[in-house]
Amino acid sequence: MKKYCCKMMKDAVNTKCDKHPNRSDCPDCLVHYSPKFAEYGIIVHDGGSSSVLIQFCPWCGTRLPESKRDLWFEELARLGFDCPLSQKIPKNFQTDAWYLGKKQEAQE
Ligand SMILES: [Zn+2]
Ligand SMILES: [Zn+2]
Repeated sequence: MKKYCCKMMKDAVNTKCDKHPNRSDCPDCLVHYSPKFAEYGIIVHDGGSSSVLIQFCPWCGTRLPESKRDLWFEELARLGFDCPLSQKIPKNFQTDAWYLGKKQEAQE
């Protein structure tokens, strides 16, 4: 199970409502978590799907994990994906599995 720094963050990341299937459209949804990049962002309600990256939890002040966005592109480039956002990439790269799997390897 995924651990959050505090209950406020857990609730904020998991907020969902029936009226807005897309969380970006919902004024009640404040924080977006991107598992594949390990990024937390404040959702910008501008009609698009943008969010502002945050490094600390706005409620408890805990330092959030470092973004793995650059590493994600690097790893995929190494596998031959030069444009991973528009290419069909391996399943584990669509979630946090790609770097969690890596961590486990390192520990063994
Ligand atoms: Zn927190
Ligand atoms: Zn809503």
